[in-house]
Amino acid sequence: MGGYHKCLGEDCGKWITYRFAICANCEQKYGNRAVGWPDWLRFMWNDIQRDRRRNKRIMKHEITFADLEDDDGGE
Ligand SMILES: [Zn+2]
Repeated sequence: MGGYHKCLGEDCGKWITYRFAICANCEQKYGNRAVGWPDWLRFMWNDIQRDRRRNKRIMKHEITFADLEDDDGGE
């Protein structure tokens, strides 16, 4: 869904949608495919995507964890 973050491009900081790592300007600078990006940019983007996936998973399982805790408390 929605959400914005700052363009990862060096000295840019432009706000763009979460689906993109860098803005159109920086795509011209770095290329629009991750394979052509410098390592630091690829690492940053990988980190962000991993965090987003993890957060989504935690939210989905939050209720399950809470239920488990309740069950264990009885022992
Ligand atoms: Zn940019």
